[in-house]
Amino acid sequence: MENSVLRNIEPKEVFRYFEDLTQIPRESGKERQVTDYLIAFAENHGLEWFRDEALNVLITKKASPGYEDRPGVILQGHTDMVCEKNENTAHDFDKDLITLVLDGDKITAADTTLGADDGIGIALALALLADENAAHPFLEVLCTSDEERGMYGAEAFDTSLLKGRILINLDSNEEDIFTVGCAGGPGVRTEIPIIREEAAPGWTALHIKISGLIGGHSGEDIHLGRANSIKLMARVLLAIDRETDFRLSDLRGGLKYNAIPREANAVIMIPESRLKKVKSAITDMEGELRNEYRVNDPEITVTFEASDPIAEIKPMSKLSTQSVVNYIYFAETGVIRMDMEFRDTVESSVSLGVVRTEEEKAILQTLTRSSLKSMYMEMYYKILRLAEQVGGRTELMSNCPEWEYNPDSHIKTIFQDTYKRMHGKDPGFVITHAGLECGVINRNSASPIDMIAAGPIARNLHTPGEYVSISSTARFWDFLREVMKSI
Ligand SMILES: [Zn+2]
Repeated sequence: MENSVLRNIEPKEVFRYFEDLTQIPRESGKERQVTDYLIAFAENHGLEWFRDEALNVLITKKASPGYEDRPGVILQGHTDMVCEKNENTAHDFDKDLITLVLDGDKITAADTTLGADDGIGIALALALLADENAAHPFLEVLCTSDEERGMYGAEAFDTSLLKGRILINLDSNEEDIFTVGCAGGPGVRTEIPIIREEAAPGWTALHIKISGLIGGHSGEDIHLGRANSIKLMARVLLAIDRETDFRLSDLRGGLKYNAIPREANAVIMIPESRLKKVKSAITDMEGELRNEYRVNDPEITVTFEASDPIAEIKPMSKLSTQSVVNYIYFAETGVIRMDMEFRDTVESSVSLGVVRTEEEKAILQTLTRSSLKSMYMEMYYKILRLAEQVGGRTELMSNCPEWEYNPDSHIKTIFQDTYKRMHGKDPGFVITHAGLECGVINRNSASPIDMIAAGPIARNLHTPGEYVSISSTARFWDFLREVMKSI
């Protein structure tokens, strides 16, 4: 600790563990070393521990004197972190240590992600386990692995090992707003078979590119009214369709199914004689799109250039072209419904995130999200029907479970009362429009667990520039110990 950057930062008992964690490589899927650290911690403090094959670690601590009759509490966070770095740095996350930087109230990292997501959650839990003077009920600290790639650790964890029926997830980052539910929903892959034909004589190829979109997280940013490049491409293609017969040769857009796609590229074949009409149709459509999105996505650009017909790939048949374009045109994308109970919160949304065409098929990926199962199933069924309409077939890619809000939650009341007592005002509550491990644990648990998610302020997660607030961590640490006394 002599040379540590955070040695004089309060609360020292939290930041010493946080700093330790930043000095251990822990990219998703590479959590062995950090679990060794957790086990050594448990051994040093005389605490019982358990590690499973998926590299989840459970550490338990007896209730403090006088708290033996209180209901047990599970504190949960994830050990892995997203490893992103600036382009100009040679940082190797497998062996280079994160360089901590103090910047006023912020702790950040030089040129890399910090890993406060969710290192700060784990550090808070360890600080509580280490605190001999803290008053608390029976504690189970569950440190899950591999959250960032798809909550695989939580999914693999045997929830029957948990005795507590109250769970506090420490992977949230709004000190004044607690999370009381999250969205779930299936991710669906659609395949539409493609038939290709020889290009007709006198036809020419055109390459159309849509770019300049902002994009974003397909859940957390879905209400911001940003454009979806794949959907825009369908509109451009249908504008062309109103001018001339055309054939699709190639179509690709979007990189990840959980992100709003920012670019799309199409190669089409059109009769050479219609080229001028088509070019002006595209330019007109660009103008319309730029006007529609001038506030929320102002840099949309649609460009086109004459292209060599793709030598090795023939254009699709008319029917195949229509099937692919119609699927995209009619696919739902964006906010479906706002939440009735939590203002300004999206309840249900869907996002078409990826399209690409291969020789014999088009592949499309869509992600649904809702805090209500009945709503995401409805979106899912709609995708199935649409795929059927164009002769396609679907397959489930993922199935993230929702965590449905419980208005009678006891832990929510404790959080509300404790917060009000300490800060003299009411906290906020939200249902997050993204997945949380609470949903997975909830689904896999035989009996219901009362849950809430919370944590100190951290920003710019998953990017270099990620930081955690020192003062917020201090306040949250006090708050967490107060909550423990009140359960
Ligand atoms: Zn996280």
